[in-house]
Amino acid sequence: MMDITYLLDPLNDAQQEAVSAPLGHILVVAGAGSGKTRVLAHRIAWLLQVERFSPFSILAVTFTNKAATEMRSRIEVLLESPAAGIWVGTFHGIAHRLLRSHWREAGLPQAFQILDNDDQYRLIKRVIRELELDEDQWPARRAQWYINGCKDEGLRPQCIDDRSDRSTAVLLTIYQAYEAACARSGLVDFAELLLRALELLRNDSALLAHYRQRFQHILVDEFQDTNAIQYAWLRLLVGEGSSGDASGWLFAVGDDDQSIYGWRGARIENIQQFTRHYPDAKTIRLEQNYRSTGTILAASNAVISQNSGRLGKELWTGRGEGESIYLYRAINDLDEAHFVVERINRWVEEGGLRGECAVLYRSNAQSRALEEALLQKGIPYRVHGGLRFFERAEIRDAMAYLRLIHNRNDDAAFERVVNVPARGIGARTVEGVRELARESGLTLWRAALQLQQQQRLTARAAKALGGFLRLVETLDNDTQGLELAEQVAHVHQHSGLIAHFGKERGEKAQARLDNLEELVNAARNFVPEEDGAPRLAAFLSHAALEAGEAQGDAWEDCVQLMTLHSAKGLEFPLVFLVGVEEGLFPHRMSVADPARLEEERRLCYVGMTRAMRVLYITFAERRRLHGKETYPKASRFIGEIPPKLVQEVRMRGVVCRPSAAAGRVSSAQSGLELGQAVQHALFGPGVVLRLEGEGEQARVQVNFEAGGAKWLMVSLAGLQPLC
Ligand code: ATP
Ligand code: MG
Repeated sequence: MMDITYLLDPLNDAQQEAVSAPLGHILVVAGAGSGKTRVLAHRIAWLLQVERFSPFSILAVTFTNKAATEMRSRIEVLLESPAAGIWVGTFHGIAHRLLRSHWREAGLPQAFQILDNDDQYRLIKRVIRELELDEDQWPARRAQWYINGCKDEGLRPQCIDDRSDRSTAVLLTIYQAYEAACARSGLVDFAELLLRALELLRNDSALLAHYRQRFQHILVDEFQDTNAIQYAWLRLLVGEGSSGDASGWLFAVGDDDQSIYGWRGARIENIQQFTRHYPDAKTIRLEQNYRSTGTILAASNAVISQNSGRLGKELWTGRGEGESIYLYRAINDLDEAHFVVERINRWVEEGGLRGECAVLYRSNAQSRALEEALLQKGIPYRVHGGLRFFERAEIRDAMAYLRLIHNRNDDAAFERVVNVPARGIGARTVEGVRELARESGLTLWRAALQLQQQQRLTARAAKALGGFLRLVETLDNDTQGLELAEQVAHVHQHSGLIAHFGKERGEKAQARLDNLEELVNAARNFVPEEDGAPRLAAFLSHAALEAGEAQGDAWEDCVQLMTLHSAKGLEFPLVFLVGVEEGLFPHRMSVADPARLEEERRLCYVGMTRAMRVLYITFAERRRLHGKETYPKASRFIGEIPPKLVQEVRMRGVVCRPSAAAGRVSSAQSGLELGQAVQHALFGPGVVLRLEGEGEQARVQVNFEAGGAKWLMVSLAGLQPLC
């Protein structure tokens, strides 16, 4: 008998039951931190080691690429050998892999490229312009939302016939023109990846039979956030469901309380429908939380219990009560950021690691104040899901050259760099190219070539445009046979990008050059998922899919900054939930709609349950939002936490409860108050962060825009209040 104790011993009874369940469809529904992801990894090891299935029979779906890498390494640790052959990835990653292998059957050109959200937006904008629609009335964002929404529901333009309503008719026209543009250029957007992969299997019965036979086990983490297309794809692959003709088994783990992608079409009902679609399925519940202290868990449970229509479950923990939840009422966003940094410093002084600290926020824009505060103190940090590495302008420029080398018909790439660096190709010339492309159904590259050949351009324009076309051809020629990293470095140099950014001055320019260098490193370290795929093609897809999840210095101990959405599935000993204010969180767009409000609350639950030992919740009484000064109230979610679990924090020796009166304590005579904008003769403009002491001894801490935070004697500083 093989020794399987190592697979089951580290698990509780319910977890063991799930891991060692007889073959069949299985649904594990359980709250945060109850070991769902752990169970999934152990189940895979069980199938391989005990049930003796081949690694090739396993397909595991995770929510992010990072989670996929972690899942693979967890399995490898359990098996003590490489998990080669198993497919582990996100829905997008797996769909992409299928389409690469079967591009012909999917009706795609071999060199198809992924269009990321930003490029999609630009392309839609161009399409709207070409249709001569009023861009104010038909903003590209709305059309993008519409198109992606249709695709998420599996709707092609030909399936939509509601032409009675003018608005739908126009959006439909945009959708059609956009599809045509993508087809011309060989571009596939994120929603298209999923829909194509579904259609591929649906339309090709031989291929479907092949994959059904191959993937006998399909395991899905974060099942509550699968959308209609993803679920349809899973069901297709698994077989119809009645146990007789099922060709594969579905093992899904999820938590209805953590469904946070409703706005992107995710269907919480998938969980509820699972047992209807698969009546023989076994449902297993896990009830012990291993992640958080009793206090954190009780607070999270209290918040989520305000939602209606839950599957309902109570978690318990054996970890003891732990510390209170700390609440900090900041004067403004700067004060909030400084508070967070101060507490992180304290954590590190007490022997903790920076990487154990996560700061979670509702919207990306909130990261800037936090980043500045961290930079001032020289604390390394990493932003996940913000302006990611591959989304930065200079990286996108460099990638656009690489994309053109790979596929001349990539219109989005053409648009991006045709005149970057500036080479005298004017807007009129580019418009001419677009016009010909539109009239003759050509890609921009082909249209540009034709304009050249037909000598329809002015001499200057012809020279400039010809220069660009030759440049791309030469870059392609000169980099044939080079290693990927050398190829990237060559393109940086000879496209003129290095000289272009080198001309700019200041730190920003240096950061851009550093980023370009980092791209060469990324290319050097890049390992394609599949052998044999052309390396450049694989790298380009990787960039579009990963969008920099592995940005920054992976080896450095960094504070982790991310949105609440990207924190799903992760855990950290110390967590800060910042900006927990009405209007921001719950988001002002969701407050009026009960369903959306509940989704915000689930997001809050996700955020709180990331914390293992210590949880800080902060909010600011004053915040600049969208360029305006706002005076938010504490979020209703704070009020939903039982007060006995919460302790309000005051900064040592400082005024920290800025009720209108408190803000003026000790500063009455100086006329300064917390959060006030001031001007200093030498340091320039800044904001008052702290006030201490009385009279001659009164000191003020000001965060200067240029120089950062400084303590000054009020009597000597000569600060001028700014209104
Ligand atoms: P989430 O809903 O947030 O995704 P989850 O249910 O997937 O959470 P895991 O991430 O698998 O939970 O587990 C949470 C933590 O508890 C991890 O650190 C995991 O290693 C630990 N854990 C899970 N089960 C056990 C167990 N039986 N004994 C000890 N630790 C466990
Ligand atoms: Mg998990």
